[in-house]
Amino acid sequence: MGAEILMNEAESHMLHTYNRYPVVLDHGEGVYLYDTEGKKYLDFAAGIAVQALGYGDAEYNQALKAQIDKLLHTSNLYYNQPTIEAAKKICDVSGLDRVFFTNSGTEAIEGAIKAAKKYAYTKDGCTDHEIIAMNHSFHGRSLGALAVTGNAHYREPFEPLPGIVKFADYNDLDSVKALVNEKTCAIIMETIQGEGGILPATEEFLRGVKELCQKHDMLLILDEIQCGMGRTGAMFAWQEYGVKPDIMTCAKALGCGVPVGAFVMTKKVAQGSLKPGDHGTTYGGNPFVAAAVSKVFDIFEERKITEHVKKIGTYLDEQLEQLKSEFDCIAAHRGKGLIQGLEFGSNVPVGEISAKALERGLILITAGGNVLRFVPPLVIEKEHVDEMIQILKAVLPK
Ligand SMILES: *Cc1c(COP(=O)(O)O)cnc(C)c1O
Repeated sequence: MGAEILMNEAESHMLHTYNRYPVVLDHGEGVYLYDTEGKKYLDFAAGIAVQALGYGDAEYNQALKAQIDKLLHTSNLYYNQPTIEAAKKICDVSGLDRVFFTNSGTEAIEGAIKAAKKYAYTKDGCTDHEIIAMNHSFHGRSLGALAVTGNAHYREPFEPLPGIVKFADYNDLDSVKALVNEKTCAIIMETIQGEGGILPATEEFLRGVKELCQKHDMLLILDEIQCGMGRTGAMFAWQEYGVKPDIMTCAKALGCGVPVGAFVMTKKVAQGSLKPGDHGTTYGGNPFVAAAVSKVFDIFEERKITEHVKKIGTYLDEQLEQLKSEFDCIAAHRGKGLIQGLEFGSNVPVGEISAKALERGLILITAGGNVLRFVPPLVIEKEHVDEMIQILKAVLPK
C-alpha cells in the first residue's frame, strides 16, 4: 500500500491525538530510518529518546528472539529469571535498592507518587499530604502523572486532578522553600526538563532541593525517564550531581524499544511504603521486556556507551554552540551529552524547521518553549553529527 493510502487509513481509524509528520516509517538500520517509499532519514529523535542503541542491533535483537521462543509472559504471581536479573542490574548501576517494573513512563510516575503517599501515610496516618512539582515539567498523561505536570495546556481540560500538588519554579530554590509545609511529602522533578525545553537542573538547585528534603523528611523523586540511561554521559543524570533520589523513575531508553518503565527506591522507602496488595500490574516487567532491559545494561557496559556519549556529546555540544554563533535566529543552546536543545526566537516556529529537516532526510523533534530537541541514539558518531549540522544549516532561516 502506498504511503498516501496508509495515512488516509490512519486518519479514518485512529483517534486523532497527534498531528503526525507525513511519512510512513518502515524499517531502521543503525541510526537511519527508512520510509515505505525507501527514503532514508538520519534519526536525531530516537523515537523520543528511546532507541539508545539505534535500530537492528544484532545482539539485542537476538536476546529478544530467544526470549520470545522461551517465555513471553507469566504475570507477577510467579518469579522468573530475566525479571530478577534486570532488577538486579538497575540496582547495581543506580545504587538504589528496590525496583517495580511498569509498562510506561507514566505508570512509573504513578507508582512513585503512590509510594511517596504511602510512605507519608505510614508515618502519620494522614491522607492530606502535598506534593511539590515544577512548572514546565512533564511527567506523563494519566491523571496522576498529569497532576504533577506543570503545563496548563495539558492539564486544564481534565481538572480536577488527584492529590494536592503545588508548583514551584525550576532552578529557583526559594520558590520551592516557599511551598514547603508540614503536609509536604515529596518533591518531584526531572533532573533535566525534557519536554519543557531541555533545561538542566543547576547543581545548586538540585543539591538545595535534596537538603530541603532531608531536613523536612520529604522524599525526592527524580524523573529520569528522558534524561536517564546514559544520555547525559552518566547512567543516570543525577549521578553527576552527587545527589541521590529516594525514588527514581525510568522508561524510554530502559528497554531500548520495548514498552517498559520502572520506579526504583531506597530500602528505607521500600520498607515504609508499598506492601503486598498496595500496587500491581499484569504485564509490568514480564520476561520479554525484562530480557530487553537486562541485555541493554549488558551492552551499555560491554560497549562503554556512557564513555562514548561523553565524547560524542561534547562534540555535539560544540557544533550546536558554533551553530548558535552563526545564526541569529538561535536564542539559546542548552543541554548535556546527547540531550540538547536549541531555543529559537518566537518569530521562527520550530515546527517548520523540523518539517523542513524531515523533507531533507533528517528527523528532529521539538520541545516546549520553541525549542528544537536533539535526543539521538547514543551510538551516533561524529560523521552523523556533521551530517545533521549540514542539513540543519540548509533549513535554518538566515
Ligand atoms: C516521556 C516522559 C514521561 C512519560 O512517559 P510515557 O512512557 O510516555 O508514559 C514522563 N516523564 C518524562 C520526563 C518523559 O520524558
